[in-house]
Amino acid sequence: MENNVLVWFRNDLRLHDNEALFNAINTQKPVLAIYVFDENQYKNTHLGFPKTGSFRAQFIIESVQNLKENLKNIGIELLVKKGNSVEIITNICNEFNITEIHYQLENTDEEILVEKNLLKTLNPSILLKGIWGKTLIHINDIPFSINQLPELFTNFRKKVEAQSEVKKLFSNFIINNKLVFENKTQIPTIGDLGLPEVTFNTKAAIQFKGGETEALNRLNHYFFETKSLATYKITRNEMLGANYSSKFSAWLALGCISPRYVYHQIKLFENKIEANDSTYWLFFELLWRDYFQFIAVKHGNNLFKLNGLNNSKITWNNNETDFEKWKSGQTGYPLIDANVQELIQTGFMSNRGRQNVASFLTKNLGVNWLWGAKWFESLLIDYDAASNYGNWAYQAGVGNDGRQSRYFNTEKQSLDYDSKGNYVRHWLNGLKTLPGSKALFPYKLSVEEQTQYKFNIHEDYYEPMVDLIY
Ligand SMILES: Cc1cc2nc3c(=O)[nH]c(=O)nc-3n(C[C@H](O)[C@H](O)[C@H](O)COP(=O)(O)OP(=O)(O)OC[C@H]3O[C@@H](n4cnc5c(N)ncnc54)[C@H](O)[C@@H]3O)c2cc1C
Repeated sequence: MENNVLVWFRNDLRLHDNEALFNAINTQKPVLAIYVFDENQYKNTHLGFPKTGSFRAQFIIESVQNLKENLKNIGIELLVKKGNSVEIITNICNEFNITEIHYQLENTDEEILVEKNLLKTLNPSILLKGIWGKTLIHINDIPFSINQLPELFTNFRKKVEAQSEVKKLFSNFIINNKLVFENKTQIPTIGDLGLPEVTFNTKAAIQFKGGETEALNRLNHYFFETKSLATYKITRNEMLGANYSSKFSAWLALGCISPRYVYHQIKLFENKIEANDSTYWLFFELLWRDYFQFIAVKHGNNLFKLNGLNNSKITWNNNETDFEKWKSGQTGYPLIDANVQELIQTGFMSNRGRQNVASFLTKNLGVNWLWGAKWFESLLIDYDAASNYGNWAYQAGVGNDGRQSRYFNTEKQSLDYDSKGNYVRHWLNGLKTLPGSKALFPYKLSVEEQTQYKFNIHEDYYEPMVDLIY
């Protein structure tokens, strides 16, 4: 039987700029591809909710569907399985006489463990070729060893900007037109993954649809059709609407779009249309993303520990009642509750919102930050282990923030970022009758005002669960 090559897709669900796929095709041997819905990702957490919730699961299913179609167009079959990755891949290797596996390396614990176990189980004659592909700047191109990675973002960014370059895209592969394997598998449905169906909420910022094709469309829309990139720096802290920010995060997290591709398209935009602070700022944010990816490599498992990256001595409480109120959007503070509602109802929340709700849980309530991170993990379409736990640790003060006591003042943030109350009214029906900024502070309304606005704080909303810290 002929020697065959396997591409193992995980968080690199695309054809463009995919080094693992590029390498596999360049072997000139027949190529087969696989994606596994790993059972470990579809369990319940100890907190009683799914590790991967319906929004992300749906997005992954769509991304895998799209990948399958796109691969078929270049003559490669994508097998799709559900279960234990190591067992499934080992069996596929035996069944199809696989001699090489090409894949993108992961940088966080659970995913690395799968690679290690695979290495132990596979026939040692099989070549496992993992490549680094998660970041904008290749890990070999950062100007320090991982152990010497600066703890502060600013120091990281300055050195990288001065000394590193973004690689060209891996895109000129020779297409293998021969379909070597017949389709043998079905993509699981959301029900097969043990999750309830989700329906699109028309209040959502955008309708996220998984896959490389949709990712490239979104970039084209944001950059070239609407030219929103030209105002990104001005709008990026808003919370309402489709184009205040790129919304690339979910496609980046699953690798439907490559950060290098985004970068080269920014350069194209700058050459063809306009170069300004905003076009630079999207690059700047991609460096934040890189920074958290490298921090995850440097700190390993500590990223997921309560004491965080700095062996913090902060004590956290495990108050389930407080956590429940926070996670269901019933704190009595509209900015927090509206953002949590957006997350629950759509699987997305703006960066401004995430900072505020994380600060509220950790600083105002003192609740175990890992619980908040797990709630985000369950719900976010764009969940990425390094970005999520890195940002949570940073907000909680157990990460690598220069200002350990960073705290978001909920009232000030409400006025600064939702001065007219449009965002909170969008998500909280009970506040619909309150005009302008009155909707931001329902707990400040007198009895007379409540009557005037046909609003009752007990019936239409909640009393604040705690006093604010000033
Ligand atoms: C508590 C908390 C949890 C978060 N969890 C995640 C997560 O699981 N996955 C995730 O992708 N982002 C996470 N973020 C970062 C950020 O909020 C989202 O990337 C951003 O809101 C996504 O919207 P966008 O694509 O429109 O962003 P844009 O503003 O358009 O930014 C462009 C891209 O830059 C990257 N980026 C921007 N800010 C950050 C940041 N602070 N950290 C890392 N990357 C960044 C993202 O890839 C994003 O798509 C988290 C932030 C906080 C405060």
